[in-house]
Amino acid sequence: MRILVTGGAGFIGSALVRHLIRNTAHEVLNLDALTYAGTLSALAPVADDPRYRFVRADVRDAVAVTRAIREFRPQVITHLAAESHVDRSLDGPAAFVETNVVGTFQMLNAARAYWQGLDPAEQAAFRFHHISTDEVFGSLGETGLFTETTPYDPRSPYSASKAASDHLVSAWGHSYGLPVIVTNCSNNYGPYHFPEKMIPLMIVKALAGESLPVYGRGENVRDWLFVEDHVRALQAVFERGEPGRRYNIGGHAERRNIDVVHMLCTLLDRLHPRPDGASYAGQIGFVADRPGHDLRYAIDATRIRDELGWVPQESFESGLEKTVRWYLANEDWWRPLIAQGGADQRRGLGLSP
Ligand code: NAD
Repeated sequence: MRILVTGGAGFIGSALVRHLIRNTAHEVLNLDALTYAGTLSALAPVADDPRYRFVRADVRDAVAVTRAIREFRPQVITHLAAESHVDRSLDGPAAFVETNVVGTFQMLNAARAYWQGLDPAEQAAFRFHHISTDEVFGSLGETGLFTETTPYDPRSPYSASKAASDHLVSAWGHSYGLPVIVTNCSNNYGPYHFPEKMIPLMIVKALAGESLPVYGRGENVRDWLFVEDHVRALQAVFERGEPGRRYNIGGHAERRNIDVVHMLCTLLDRLHPRPDGASYAGQIGFVADRPGHDLRYAIDATRIRDELGWVPQESFESGLEKTVRWYLANEDWWRPLIAQGGADQRRGLGLSP
């Protein structure tokens, strides 16, 4: 199949592209604007494969997107391009509305025009797969899980923009018959994660000897999924999922942020001991909480398990160790990103490049 991946230079998109090139016979066109979050170096392992192509384009650019679709003639569009960092959305929400809402609208419009020109068999086989987040469902209390029928209740500019884009995708399915699928996934972690996100941020700050900035008291709970499990789920969905249907994807790995940070410190103590022999846990510091910080997210992934046979393969413990080992071995990838302002300055803790 020919798969057009938007946002293929980002964290999840690049994992998807690497997975598809390495493990399938699909051809991939990666369409990405290369914002601060896009790194072509994440694609170096597959860049020379003849089944992989890259086009630098912005999803808001109707002309460029239309041209890329018409030339590549995809059977599947997997739409991942987005502004993805909640903290940045609090400081500058406009880019989130532009890329996540207007960009998705332009992708849908271009996809629809192309799809209308296909023959009926090609039309039936086509998929527009929109990749979204569990954050659209809002915040859970101590108990309960998000299912595919949980009402939307987004609370940050990021999650509101993703919710809006999810609704547009559903509308293009209902109104125009475009074969769309939406997946909502929990927090991902793994290699090539931009070092502004919590897990890589804590690793690189620990290695730099800086304070590890935990929001509030670290009580917020996230449901973690290894990125390679996510991309296997995405493949299952666009190959075998039912158009018009939604699928929640999650790892059944709920952890409080403070517990994740302690696990990272324990792993680093073992894999890369501090020169003074002290634990990295001594670097943990608490900072003012994120405004409107959702308490708990957790996904019920029963549907994708029962209907498509997908289950995560990586435990949180083994996935986290792989991730820490990867950051220790791949400083050449993340250090230049820090120098470009990758670390989160909101917390007032600049990383020395
Ligand atoms: P990311 O920030 O790492 O990557 C985003 C990619 O999109 C980058 O390569 C960037 O260059 C590109 N991009 C941004 N704006 C663009 C534009 N206007 N035109 C073209 N390309 C543009 O994000 P990620 O963590 O890989 O997330 C990918 C998708 O998955 C997003 O839609 C996000 O909402 C969703 N998601 C992420 C998570 C997570 O934990 N990271 C969980 C669930 C869903």
